[in-house]
Order: sequence, then structure tokens, then C-alpha cells
Amino acid sequence: MEQELRILYEIQKADLKIMETEKKLITGPKRIEELNTELKDLKEKTEKEKIVIEELEKERRRKERELEEEKDKIKKKESKLFEVKTNKEYQALLKEIETAKEAVDKLEEDIIVLMDRIEDLKKDYQASIKHLEKRKKEIEEEKKNIELDLSTMDEEIAKFKAERERLMSSVSPELRERYNLLREKRQGIAVVNVKNGVCLGCFVNIPPQLFIEVTKNKEIIFCPNCNRIFYYIDEN
Ligand SMILES: [Zn+2]
Repeated sequence: MEQELRILYEIQKADLKIMETEKKLITGPKRIEELNTELKDLKEKTEKEKIVIEELEKERRRKERELEEEKDKIKKKESKLFEVKTNKEYQALLKEIETAKEAVDKLEEDIIVLMDRIEDLKKDYQASIKHLEKRKKEIEEEKKNIELDLSTMDEEIAKFKAERERLMSSVSPELRERYNLLREKRQGIAVVNVKNGVCLGCFVNIPPQLFIEVTKNKEIIFCPNCNRIFYYIDEN
């Protein structure tokens, strides 16, 4: 019995490894997907920032061209001042020059505001690029590790399954059936430890006399509450 109990405990260990590895087979690809999404989002963000800067640069150049045009207009009108014949024409021309000068002032102001804005956005863009490069390296590294892990997992599972089969062959058919049934009904955990008189499967206190028996690991004892098989390990 003592031998069989120890074997059951070893089988449980192999089963836990199988469960853990199978879980990783699901979480690994999920994590890779998450990382790919993160990288894609970061790339899109910087791309958008770049487009906004380019649009504003275009607007700045457009306003600079307009500014030159207005300045030319003023020069032409100013030279015309000497050619006009009547006072009325002269006054009208002065008014036009005044309006053009106001437009120049407004354009110059707009250009300054745009340049400030572009400068700020370029700083943000540089920071985004830096962050993107950093995350890209980290993500590639993490993905490489997950992929390496994943590539060996089928092999790992096969190894633990073979180990499980080998151990199972030394367990009586009744106990084997009981163990498998327990695992099915108890989220994969059929063999549990007891700590300070508490079953670590269901966290219920067991009678003190039973606890003493459990610590001996001499026979197969089931938890009175959850029916799991006790295997005592002194964790202290
Ligand atoms: Zn229990």
C-alpha cells in the first residue's frame, strides 16, 4: 500500500505537469497574439502621428506661399500709388494695401502657431518611435521564447504521458479507476497534501486522529469531505 500510495502521488505529479503544459499550449499562442496586436497598435499610432505632422507641414508651406503672394501684392500696389490720377483711386489703393498688410500679419501669426505645434508633435513622434523600437525588441524576444517553449511542449506532454502510463501499470485496476474518476470530478487533482490538519484539496479540517494516520503515509486514506487521496509531505 505504501508503495502504491507513493506511485499515485508520482502519477498526480505527472498529471499536473501535463495539465500545466497543455494550459501553456493555449496561453502561449494567445500571448503571441496579444503581442502582435500591441506592436500593430504602436505602429499605427506612430504612423498617424507622422501623417498629422505632414498635414501641418503642408499647411505651413501653403500659408508661406500665401504670405509671399500678399507681400508681392503690397509691393505692386505701393508702386501703383505713384501712377494713380485721382485722390479717390489713391484712397482706394491705400485701403487695399491696408487690407493686404492685415492679411500678412494674420498669416505670420498662423505660421508661428503652426511651427510651435509641429515642433511639439515632432517631440511626441520621436518619443513614440523610441518606445516602438524598445517594445519591438522586447516583443520579439518574448515571442522567440514562447515559440521555443511551444516547440518542445508536445514532446514534454508525450514524455509525461509515457511516465504516467509506466507508473499506472503498477497500480491496481480498482485504485486506478478511483484515481481517474477523482481527477475527473475534482478539477484534475486526486492526490493532495494535508497541512496543519487541513486538506489542501478542499481546505476543510480533518479529525486529529485521521491526520496522525495520514502523516504515516502507510495506507490509502480519503478525505472525508472531498474524497481525495491523501499523501502527506512535511512542508516544514
Ligand atoms: Zn478534502
